[in-house]
Amino acid sequence: MKLTENSRVVLQKRYLAKDSEGKPTETVEQLFERVANAIAESDRLYDKQADVKTVAKKFYDMMTNLEFLPNSPTLMNAGRPLGQLSACFVLPIADSMEDIFETIKMAALIHKSGGGTGFSFSRLRPKGSTVNSTGGVASGPISFMKVFNMATEAVKQGGTRRGANMGILRVDHPDILEFIDCKHNATEITNFNISVGMTEKFMRAVEAGEDYELVDPATNLVTGTLNARDVFNKIVDSAWRNGEPGIIFLDRLNRDNPVPHMGEIESTNPCGEQPLLPYESCNLGSINLVNMTKKNRDGSYAVDYKKLERVTRDAVHFLDNVIDANRYPLEKIDETTKATRKIGLGVMGFADLLLMLGIPYNSEQGIELAGKIMGFIEEKGHEMSRELAETRGTFPVFRGSVYEKKGKMRNATVTTIAPTGTLSIIAGCSSGVEPVFAYVFIRNVMDGTELIEVNPILKEVLIARGLYSDELMKKIASEGCLSHVEEIPDDIKRIFVSAHEVSPEYHIRMQAAFQEHTDNAVSKTVNFGNSATREDVSDVYHLAYELGCKGVTIYRDGSRSEQVLNIGKVK
Ligand code: ADP
Repeated sequence: MKLTENSRVVLQKRYLAKDSEGKPTETVEQLFERVANAIAESDRLYDKQADVKTVAKKFYDMMTNLEFLPNSPTLMNAGRPLGQLSACFVLPIADSMEDIFETIKMAALIHKSGGGTGFSFSRLRPKGSTVNSTGGVASGPISFMKVFNMATEAVKQGGTRRGANMGILRVDHPDILEFIDCKHNATEITNFNISVGMTEKFMRAVEAGEDYELVDPATNLVTGTLNARDVFNKIVDSAWRNGEPGIIFLDRLNRDNPVPHMGEIESTNPCGEQPLLPYESCNLGSINLVNMTKKNRDGSYAVDYKKLERVTRDAVHFLDNVIDANRYPLEKIDETTKATRKIGLGVMGFADLLLMLGIPYNSEQGIELAGKIMGFIEEKGHEMSRELAETRGTFPVFRGSVYEKKGKMRNATVTTIAPTGTLSIIAGCSSGVEPVFAYVFIRNVMDGTELIEVNPILKEVLIARGLYSDELMKKIASEGCLSHVEEIPDDIKRIFVSAHEVSPEYHIRMQAAFQEHTDNAVSKTVNFGNSATREDVSDVYHLAYELGCKGVTIYRDGSRSEQVLNIGKVK
């Protein structure tokens, strides 16, 4: 396999099966063989004569050629005793002590198996309300978030990776102001991403400058009102300060809920790309767009749509099989997941693809290509899901779903754009649909290990033009981006833009372009320079709302003491 050094390090450290002394018991190739065999085996459930060997070979090739990779838990656990293959879970939290602690227990089991969990805390009664059985006073959602956080912290030590949570509170919950500020102390609630659940009603009140009502979820009574603009500005201020909370548009998630008869969507997974019903889980997978290209006679690159179609179809087949091969941490999750059979196929290496094609990320052409590629994957992915339904049957709760009138469907959702945080390191490409963060940089992986990387496409171009040197790489690393490096010709500077040179508007427009063709949601961070104002953040929130995004995550450079990625710093 053609793997970068970084990729080998990550696979070795975190993915290979190991013995009791921590020595790997498999090679990288054996890892992919293990995964391919375990996932292909599901074919037998639908056809006793299935040629599982050929299917396994197809899956193996697709992964080892770095054309497609399933989410981390599938790589880590398929064909092994744990067998938990999903990255994303949502659990309900009902307003009773039993329910709250029952959910903490479920979350701990999920974290232990490498999955991430999302919760809505919106059903918990507000701080200060009465507790009937004791006559005492309720401590409110934020106090319980801290308990969830502690539990996650404790499980971290034993699991394959540290646990991750999403905590959501509706904007009309009486404790919303406390929630917005709850991560201002950088040492608290660290295992959570938090998002405010916005409603259309609230957004209309913001636009009109009106007050809106806070509702106690336990009694359904209005407890007071707040000025919508004040609350909106408070969210903006907090996000400007340290990137949190994010926002999600709850009504939109539900407008696009393909199975409304199964209940309401109240939360997403930890990184926000996968809205799910309570007890639902989802497995994700990503196509590496760098390898969906062909070289023209003149040496330039083009998208290979034929190949993209083949890989999309095989990926849908793969992900549908994962649902059956999966060992779920709970019976109820098993049932709910198999009722809707959601899968989340997305892409990684999109920014690298643009570089290969000579298209700037922040250009009309770039936005156009995003829509074209994702539209193609959506179309071919849905086609494959329909074909699978012919032989395997539709997802069990198909009746009453939005697909009922449109013919068969095997999966209630097919597409999701994941962050591909580690998958993109394994594949050696840019992550998800994000622009390249920096062309030469240091990546802090778990435990403070540092990896230094040069973008391979930049390297290729600079070598071809006779410009490549170690010295120049160091200069680029310390500058952070290419625009200030005089040795770089202007035409290269225009194409090789980094995340901070892409305006927030282009970040959001790109997110919206992918969202338009994605069943679930898009993981995307809007990067702001350190000097960005609160107003800049506010503008982006409004634009995201206008363009139909399902949520927004922003990050202003330098606003947190610990960043996963650093620009302009090389040792
Ligand atoms: P990967 O590249 O490892 O497959 P992604 O970065 O694409 O993962 O994240 C996809 C989803 O996986 C996240 O939204 C989250 O639900 C889950 N996830 C990511 N990192 C963690 C983690 N450390 N612990 C638990 N779940 C995680």
